[in-house]
Amino acid sequence: MLKRLYNIFKPTDDNGVFQVVAEDQHQLSKFDVSRAARKVIDQLKKAGYSAYLVGGGVRDLLLDNDPKDFDVATDATPEQIKAVFSNARIIGKRFRIVHVRFGREIIEVTTFRGTHSDGAGGNESAQTDKGILTRDNVYGDIKSDALRRDFTVNALYYEPNDSAILDYTNGLADLQNRQLRLIGDPDARYKEDPVRMLRAVRFAAKLGFTMTPETEVAIYKHVDYLGEIPAARLFEEVLKLFMSGYATAALNQLKEFGLLAYLFPGTNAALDSGNSYYQKLVFASATNTDKRLRGGKRVTPAFIYAAMLWPPLHQAMKDLVDSQKMSHHDALQLAAQGVVSQQLAHTSIPKRFLIPMREIWSLQLRLTRREGKRAYQLVENPRFRAAYDFLLLREEAGERLDGLGLWWTQFQSADQAGKEALIKSLAPSGNRKPRRRRKPKSAASASDTPAPDGKS
Ligand code: ATP
Ligand code: MG
Repeated sequence: MLKRLYNIFKPTDDNGVFQVVAEDQHQLSKFDVSRAARKVIDQLKKAGYSAYLVGGGVRDLLLDNDPKDFDVATDATPEQIKAVFSNARIIGKRFRIVHVRFGREIIEVTTFRGTHSDGAGGNESAQTDKGILTRDNVYGDIKSDALRRDFTVNALYYEPNDSAILDYTNGLADLQNRQLRLIGDPDARYKEDPVRMLRAVRFAAKLGFTMTPETEVAIYKHVDYLGEIPAARLFEEVLKLFMSGYATAALNQLKEFGLLAYLFPGTNAALDSGNSYYQKLVFASATNTDKRLRGGKRVTPAFIYAAMLWPPLHQAMKDLVDSQKMSHHDALQLAAQGVVSQQLAHTSIPKRFLIPMREIWSLQLRLTRREGKRAYQLVENPRFRAAYDFLLLREEAGERLDGLGLWWTQFQSADQAGKEALIKSLAPSGNRKPRRRRKPKSAASASDTPAPDGKS
């Protein structure tokens, strides 16, 4: 609920366009703002510039949520900002910003943006032939800055010392009505930066806001533009979508809008095939991620990617085993190569996540082999915990694995004698009779999963 605002409709501008909400009309206090952000604002003002808190920080404070971070907007150029702080670094090319570091906190400082259409852009503004902005470094004033932002609720400016809130886009009204409204003409704004479609989904999921009809409808028309965005930027956006604590809601919307086809084409196709195991696995993984984050637990992108790409991997593996009689081990390696190379054309996966993701997959085969010293060795594997969690996820989604998850759960908590008994309870591998494969009930059922026996 929007608790902190008493009276928002106070147009004070000549045109009645923007609103300054004074201190007696809201409950925001400068002490809600981190010391680092206040320091940045104070030092910029001391140096003769104007500076405001803007973006998610203001939005979240007004909603009584904990802001993730604080962003500052100023009329100082990046070079001028850098000259004010000893701990500042200019970053980014497409969109130059300055990071000012205070211990572990980084304040992102941006210079007021202007419009490009007036021809003032020079080489500070560039776009592809499809109209996608590849550089956005034309500077302007606070009002043009507000109009260049994405959503009205993200374009509120707060000055902690004089306590004013400046609203050039009617963002306060949208905030109060819990609406997400893209600023300006939705067609043009999605075209110049298609990532805004993903941001719309993320904020709608995170804030529980409803998109206004124009904001929503225009997404369906511009989904294809996402194909033009560099894979590295899409990887960053995927992490924000899946690691915000609202992955389930985001996933539902990505699927609904057709955006998932551009982020995870293989997964999207597997979901479209109607296989309920794949549906359950992908959504159970999102729900688990949300739960873990709410419980303050760690979530790794390697696990998220392992789960998101499991459906196409599983499908490809099954095809190789069935049609080419390949061993599970070889099928997994070959299928993983194919799935990863298809995915890399859409979102990058940095090596530090790609390698553990593939280990989580390989361990799914190895977890079936528990004889002798194997089980003891496996629990020592640095990736064991993630692989075990993944195994439970597969079972939760309906894959039948002969109680493998329960076996590992018991093994981990058992004492030495209990561990030995569990290992003894396994049939000795030498005498194991080849198990008869049960006839699958239907092509889409979970029981026709190639039971990874790890022997091959
Ligand atoms: P979060 O809580 O995720 O940090 P945020 O709204 O602060 O949400 P940021 O990505 O930190 O999002 O961006 C800060 C602000 O910069 C946004 O609130 C918005 O005003 C502006 N912004 C960011 N990305 C875009 C974009 N692609 N197009 C237009 N404005 C943007
Ligand atoms: Mg932010």
